[in-house]
Amino acid sequence: MVKRILIVEDEFQIAKILKLELEYEGYEVVIANNGKFGLEVGLQGKIDLMLLDIMLPEMNGMEVLRRVRKENKTMPIILLTARNLTMDKVTGLDFGANDYITKPFEMEELLARVRACFRQHEILANATNNKDVILTINDLSINVETREVTRADTPISLTPKEFDLLVYLIAHKNKIVTRENIIKDVWDYDYEGDTNVIDVYIWHLRKKVDEGFASPAIIQTVRGVGYIVKEG
Ligand code: CA
Repeated sequence: MVKRILIVEDEFQIAKILKLELEYEGYEVVIANNGKFGLEVGLQGKIDLMLLDIMLPEMNGMEVLRRVRKENKTMPIILLTARNLTMDKVTGLDFGANDYITKPFEMEELLARVRACFRQHEILANATNNKDVILTINDLSINVETREVTRADTPISLTPKEFDLLVYLIAHKNKIVTRENIIKDVWDYDYEGDTNVIDVYIWHLRKKVDEGFASPAIIQTVRGVGYIVKEG
């Protein structure tokens, strides 16, 4: 089924180029040139992913994000932010944006983020059979709607990427996943030999989900191959 993307962007040139590129990639595209209209279309339930500018007339992007998330917890939303607006990024991720990209951006980069968001959405849907909102492994549990993670009833705070990585590992529980699998499926990079970034993320994730908790560890290393999350 063709995926439909909503672009909420008041700069006509940017919206036009985005639309052309996304249509070329096979997506259907709807443009809203102000926040209010963007919110209206975003809430109609016919959109699969939203690209949301922050500085918008009528209603700013943060408010649109907040209101859409109240109704729809799972639709991927990528924020388009102006350079160095770190506060926006932080607040945006707190309000439940899946990712952000800084203007001016490379089109390839944006398309890669879009693909990664769709893939992540699919992984989540499969992991939960499209119905359960709680994903568990041993004493760790993830609410995929609220994105709350707890282990042994202790809340754990993860960055969006750490969250995606953990969900991916759990979606593949009892199977070994290689660094190449992870980089391809979670990061959507073309694999070019350097998977160090994965080790760094795993290290951070382990500190949060395994350190200080009873064994066995959730994330286990398979030496020379990759990682595994085992049930039991
Ligand atoms: Ca704008």
